[in-house]
Amino acid sequence: MTRLTVIAGPTAVGKGTVVRYLLEHNPDIQVSVSATTRSPRVGETNGVEYFFVSNDEFDRMIANDELLEYATVHLNNRYGTPRGPVERALAAGKQMILEIDIQGAEQVKASMPEANLIFIAPPSLDELKKRLVGRGTETPEEIAIRLETAEIELASQGLFDHVVINHEVAQCAQEVLDLMQSS
Ligand code: 5GP
Repeated sequence: MTRLTVIAGPTAVGKGTVVRYLLEHNPDIQVSVSATTRSPRVGETNGVEYFFVSNDEFDRMIANDELLEYATVHLNNRYGTPRGPVERALAAGKQMILEIDIQGAEQVKASMPEANLIFIAPPSLDELKKRLVGRGTETPEEIAIRLETAEIELASQGLFDHVVINHEVAQCAQEVLDLMQSS
């Protein structure tokens, strides 16, 4: 059984909700907490959703080889997966999920080919736009940038081991779980 699962997909496809659902229903699964240089959103806590770090701190983590992968996402913010917790979880035989962008997914596949890459896709691009606007957490400029990135991301699903369409959270999470258990 592959224990490292990478979940990626376009912005606002509902990856975060699917991952939260999986964790709530499967206490043995762990999720990696990424480091990011973006500012916390209202309600986000350092160390829970992300480790919120400065650009200098992010540079230091790269220089010390503390990140398993990292990427600049949506043109301006950097995100990376701390290596230590992933290696410790895998060594302890735990299932670990990384919810990261496509550039990061490719880096993980290159360094850990046994990782299972799952792409979460929206039912359609129109539905994705509706979800992004409905979420109400981004400005119109940010929405435009994220939609541009989303179109590029949708074109890269062929790099993934599996594609799961998120029609509905519970169904999508179950399909991901089945893939985690059968791969
Ligand atoms: P958000 O700012 O909405 O929380 O996340 C923006 C994007 O960054 C999402 O596509 C998310 O998957 C990606 N992301 C979050 N953490 C990481 C990470 O550690 N590495 C990479 N490469 N992307 C990440």
